Amino acid sequence: MSELTWLKALSDAEGAEAASALFTETFGGQPAGVWAAPGRVNVIGEHVDYNGGICLPIALPHRAFVAVAPREDRVVRLISPQDEGVFVEHDLDAVGPVGSEGEVKGWTAYLVGVAWALEQAGFGPLPGFDVALTSCVPLGAGLSSSAALECAMAVALDDLAGLGLAGSDEGRAKLVEVCRAAENKVAGANTGGLDQSASLRCTAGHALELDARDNTVAQVPFDLAADGLALLVIDTRAPHQLVDGQYAQRRATCEEAARKLGVELLVDVREVQDAMAALEDEVSRKRVRHVVTEIGRTREFIDTLAKGALEGERLALVGDLMNRSHDSLRDDYEVTCPELDLAVDTARAHGAFGARMTGGGFGGSCIALVEAGRVEEVAAAVRQAALDAGLAEPAFILSVPSAPAERVR
Ligand code: ADP
Ligand code: MG
Repeated sequence: MSELTWLKALSDAEGAEAASALFTETFGGQPAGVWAAPGRVNVIGEHVDYNGGICLPIALPHRAFVAVAPREDRVVRLISPQDEGVFVEHDLDAVGPVGSEGEVKGWTAYLVGVAWALEQAGFGPLPGFDVALTSCVPLGAGLSSSAALECAMAVALDDLAGLGLAGSDEGRAKLVEVCRAAENKVAGANTGGLDQSASLRCTAGHALELDARDNTVAQVPFDLAADGLALLVIDTRAPHQLVDGQYAQRRATCEEAARKLGVELLVDVREVQDAMAALEDEVSRKRVRHVVTEIGRTREFIDTLAKGALEGERLALVGDLMNRSHDSLRDDYEVTCPELDLAVDTARAHGAFGARMTGGGFGGSCIALVEAGRVEEVAAAVRQAALDAGLAEPAFILSVPSAPAERVR
């Protein structure tokens, strides 16, 4: 079915070559190295990270690549293929958070923000640097292209400055905080730590059980191919709207509800029934119900994976948990949109064991757990349904649990 749009990942060799070539073309000379970091999909556990819950991302084979060379001064020059040969320049001494005089506009905030955050965390002073970026993580598809940028930059600077943080999971957890500060403070997106944790701490062949309360992780074997299964990612290409405002509202509602319920974070709510009884506002009740039940579903999903191969009842159960996760995000958390709901419904109708939106919502991507031999069929049905409904044509990714941020050249 050739009409399907598959978003292919660049190999490390291709990505390193493209970033290096752009570097040389733009700045002259050779980069000191090339570093890469992946986008991610969250398998289950959505909108729970900022409530102290558990989520379960995998790293995608799709990566951002940065070719970097340190400089003698404090200047940072950055180029991306979209910029058609014109690089952006910043002074590391002038860069600052959103709202300050040093506010950085546009995509370079994600990269230069990491240098700023490293220095803020006491890992400076850093030299200036030249950086050329190439990424095959689709932008704004809910697959975390922004964290891929930050995490590639973080492992590059860690390496060039000899910090050694990327050499251990403990050090990587510190880099997560640095990248999150870059995204929150310099890029101005108030997100939780899920994306950066996935990009820095996932490992190939595993999903990452991330406890957002204390940032502890466990590697959960997740070899779908061995069970004859595949995880199809559907990028709906729905136009994102109101994302930031809606996200901030959801967070504020959760914080307010936690305060009313007398808990630090919603993960501390033990009985969803008691919480429902204690909250008057219907909207808060729905939001809390999503968060508490989603954390429960995620635990059950992880427990089920631990019991053995995904077949029979176990397969039916994990599929059902994915379905209930989506339904809760649609009805209680109200972060889906017609494109996401249609893709999920169509995948289920065409034999997916489970399907759900992934990421923040309001557009972006869904995932469907399908028999390996039926991936094309499900994708074709999802594409046709979108076209029939007059919606954007979706693009597809096969997500295999892949490696975290690392040096590739
Ligand atoms: P997501 O992380 O879900 O893809 P975000 O809105 O968080 O969506 O991040 C997308 C932003 O990241 C883009 O608007 C852009 O600023 C930056 N970005 C990501 N990839 C690239 C790239 N290849 N070149 C330039 N900027 C990029
Ligand atoms: Mg992002």
